[in-house]
Amino acid sequence: MNIVEISTDKQCPFCGCKKNYLSCKSSKYSKTEGFEKHKWYVRCSNCKATGGNATGIVAVKKIGELPSFCTTDKVLKRKAIDKWTVKFNNNKEQQYEL
Ligand SMILES: [Zn+2]
Repeated sequence: MNIVEISTDKQCPFCGCKKNYLSCKSSKYSKTEGFEKHKWYVRCSNCKATGGNATGIVAVKKIGELPSFCTTDKVLKRKAIDKWTVKFNNNKEQQYEL
């Protein structure tokens, strides 16, 4: 399993640092060759908070038209950032209630 980490310049909503990363764990997608299962999520290396997972099947070789079962890293990264942002907003609401 490979892990890729991309630094984001977003501020961590939980601890305020900017040491958070878009992480991708990839694993083999056994049904069809040339594809991998990718799991993207945002992770803070300071307070260890993580956002929700965005998973999908991604083509690892250049192919003409994407089959309907697969998505792209670009889409998954955006979903992972959305999930991180949603978690941030939920956290804010919880703080208001307290
Ligand atoms: Zn943090």
